[in-house]
Amino acid sequence: PADVEQLGRSTWTLLHTMAAQYPPKAPPTTQSVMKQFISTFSQLYPCWVCADDFRSWMVQPGNEPKVGGRDELGNWMCLAHNVVNVKLGKKEFDCSLWKQRWKDGWDD
Ligand code: FAD
Repeated sequence: PADVEQLGRSTWTLLHTMAAQYPPKAPPTTQSVMKQFISTFSQLYPCWVCADDFRSWMVQPGNEPKVGGRDELGNWMCLAHNVVNVKLGKKEFDCSLWKQRWKDGWDD
C-alpha cells in the first residue's frame, strides 16, 4: 500500500541522515545508544512485516549493526537498505555513493 512506501521513504531518510550526522568515531555511550535505537526501532516500526524481516536479517551472524563510527554505520545502513531493495525487486544502490546522497546531498 501507498503508506508503507511513504513511510519507507521517510524512514530511510531519517535513518540515513542519522548515519550521516553520526560522529566519525563514536564514543562508547553513543555506540550503545545507537544500538539501542536500532533495536527499539526494529521492534516498533509500524510496518510489522517490514520490522519482522528487518529483525530476522539483523540477528544473523555478520549482520549486526555496525556502530563504531559514521562510515561504518552508513555502510551498514546502506547494506540493510539494499537487502530490502533486493527483496522488493528494486535496483541495488551503490554504497560508495552513500555519503554523497545523504551527507553532501543530491536531489531525488
Ligand atoms: P526507498 O527505498 O524508500 O529509498 C529512498 C531513497 O534512498 C532512494 O530514492 C535512493 O536515493 C536512496 N537509496 C536507495 N537505496 C539505498 C541504499 N541502499 N542506501 C542508501 N540510500 C539508498 N517495503 C515493503 O513493501 N516491504 C518490506 O518488507 C519493507 N521493509 C522495510 C524495512 C525498513 C527497515 C524500511 C525503513 C522500509 C521498508 N520498506 C518495505 C519500504 C521500502 O524499503 C521503500 O521505502 C518503499 O518501497 C519506497 O521505495 P522507493 O523506491 O521510493 O525508495
